[in-house]
Amino acid sequence: MIVGLPKEIKNNENRVALTPGGVAELVKHGHTVYVQATAGEGSGFTDAEYTSAGGTILPTIEEVYNIAEMIVKVKEPIESEYKLVKPNQLLFTYFHFASHKPLTEAMVASKAICLAYETVEKKDRSLPLLVPMSEVAGRMAIQKGANYLEKPLGGRGILLGGVAGVNPAKVLVLGGGIVGTEAAKMAAGLGADVTIMDISLPRLRYLSDILPANVKTVMSTTYNIREAAKNADLIIGAVLIPGAKAPALITREMLKDLKPGAVLVDVAVDQGGCIETCKPTTHENPTFVIDGVIHYCVANMPGAVPYTSTLALTNATLPYVVKLANKGWGDACREDEELRKGLNVINGQIVYKSVADAFNMSY
Ligand code: NAD
Repeated sequence: MIVGLPKEIKNNENRVALTPGGVAELVKHGHTVYVQATAGEGSGFTDAEYTSAGGTILPTIEEVYNIAEMIVKVKEPIESEYKLVKPNQLLFTYFHFASHKPLTEAMVASKAICLAYETVEKKDRSLPLLVPMSEVAGRMAIQKGANYLEKPLGGRGILLGGVAGVNPAKVLVLGGGIVGTEAAKMAAGLGADVTIMDISLPRLRYLSDILPANVKTVMSTTYNIREAAKNADLIIGAVLIPGAKAPALITREMLKDLKPGAVLVDVAVDQGGCIETCKPTTHENPTFVIDGVIHYCVANMPGAVPYTSTLALTNATLPYVVKLANKGWGDACREDEELRKGLNVINGQIVYKSVADAFNMSY
């Protein structure tokens, strides 16, 4: 198969979907890989490394889209890329369709095959291509939150771990999945007073077993969220309802009861956010303030640590990329239920129910 690796062009996105090692693996299986010039630069991989791995460098993004049967990417195509996508071309990348109508309409119109990283699903319902980025984002959420709590950045001026004789900061984590667990671990490691909430009692039992004593597990209800939010210095939004828009757990109306200078990091912003007032921001302009509360809502957080993120992501995606290249998407998805769940759009038709439901489109 002819595989194309374009350079990511979303704001401050420095990850790349294949490492030179990944290219070598595809070439070993008899495939041809075209790499856009400087595609790996942001993650520390040179064109020369891709060439010596067996890839061929093409100067422009247009040439890569033009020649490839399968495009492997990291983020969803942005507007300037819509016109490059061809009928029957396979796109394997993050899409997050349910929170982005123009993208959904553009991919339906393109008649391409869109296989979304975020809906590839294992039998145990885990999402293997979200896990590595969620691990990165969860850990980073605390780093960012701690940073914005500093006074010169507009925060309350509180140190997460406190010091001897001074209380630590209170951190509230909404959602106890991968992002939430990693965030809770990091915050706990720094000595904060952490509360983690989830709607799943089995999950709370598990978290209560594995997390240290400075993390409390609490059932996620509107009442409990409201009470905990009032006292929190840092709130991490980390809920997920697979393929659907996140529920607004911290509402506009609750903000007036939050501490001035508190920080909200809504990691779930890529699914619409679980903090009502969140709207997507970028690494260049990551925050805004409403009612004295700092909002950090960067939709591609792992993009800021591209070295770690690229290696973590490609460790997880490469086996699927090789399978798709070896068998073609039709056979690969017929044989592999995990991959089949990743199909969101096929030749102009939405085939993932919650994406169709999000926009009342046919399914
Ligand atoms: P996950 O499925 O592992 O965890 C989600 C958790 O939310 C589950 O445990 C679920 O029970 C819980 N949940 C659902 N409804 C809830 C509610 N009302 N209250 C409390 N908990 C609730 O998902 P994840 O991998 O941790 O991802 C979380 C979010 O972070 C997703 O939206 C994901 O797309 C996003 N994400 C964003 C970035 C970024 O850069 N901004 C990076 C990675 C992941």
